[in-house]
Amino acid sequence: MKLSIVIPTFNEAQNVPLLHDELSKVLKGLKHQYEIIFVDDGSNDGTRDALRRLASDKNVKVLFHRRNFGQTAAMDSGFKYAHGDIIITMDADLQNDPADIPKLLAKLDEGYDVVSGWRKHRQDPVSKKLFSRIAGSLRRMLTREKIHDSGCTLKAYRKECFANLDLYGEMHRYIPAILTWRGFRVTEIVVNHRARKFGTTKYGMGRILRGFLDLLIVKFWMQYSARPIQLFGRLGLCCFALGFFAGLYLLWQKFADGQAIANRPLLLLVVLLVLLGVQFFGMGVITDALTKIYYRSSPISRVSETLE
Ligand code: UDP
Ligand code: MG
Repeated sequence: MKLSIVIPTFNEAQNVPLLHDELSKVLKGLKHQYEIIFVDDGSNDGTRDALRRLASDKNVKVLFHRRNFGQTAAMDSGFKYAHGDIIITMDADLQNDPADIPKLLAKLDEGYDVVSGWRKHRQDPVSKKLFSRIAGSLRRMLTREKIHDSGCTLKAYRKECFANLDLYGEMHRYIPAILTWRGFRVTEIVVNHRARKFGTTKYGMGRILRGFLDLLIVKFWMQYSARPIQLFGRLGLCCFALGFFAGLYLLWQKFADGQAIANRPLLLLVVLLVLLGVQFFGMGVITDALTKIYYRSSPISRVSETLE
């Protein structure tokens, strides 16, 4: 069995040598083959040089992004490169503890496909923890995945999880949600979390909105990507029906009661609703065609095991 450790790294010059030492000690004790994959995400603080030095260790692989593409993209590059049967992700900033890796592996051995770290005693500013809590409740409400701390990078996966999984935006925090939806068995264990000693956090308030929009996309994919007409068709029919009956009502008032309807605001609403209805319906047909093309080019693997 081979382990791949994927580490998204952006401006962590002081952290990477320390992390490499800590990680190597733990991994050497495990008696598995391993590779440590640092994905440098366009650093400009000397991290690149530090990583070049580490590459003298034969177990270290380094991928350099052309520019800063973001943590999700860095993880995606690592996943696509990794050769291991088990893939472990962790932050480069020493906040995750390599000593938790054996626990993740032991839990995976119980028959899970994904084991996610839960930073129960998280060492981050209060504001960050608060927003993370709110975002977490929203995520649990909208998706079927129920783990506490999806944003913790320290996680272990079986390699099958990444077949046809394309990540972008802020999607890395929804990997467990996407995998749960695809039928993989996801669980969590409490892990150690440490305060950041060197370097600074790469995230501000901006990620709240980005994360929220990505959550909506994840939700759409999970619920409607296989049949988008169910969403847009329903919306379209509702709007159209409302507009249609409101229009009938106006006509009735005009012809039965002899009222003038040209100055009625309702007339505008009727036009709006009918047009919206047609638009939504058309959007449903188009997205249906698009997702059919998508699924043909990258089908989701549904079968976990075949007996013959
Ligand atoms: N990171 C990255 N690209 C980015 C931002 C962050 O590769 O554009 C890496 C960063 O180096 C770290 C991990 O993602 O290893 C998590 O970032 P950070 O520690 O800043 O997030 P926080 O712990 O504050 O949520
Ligand atoms: Mg951090």
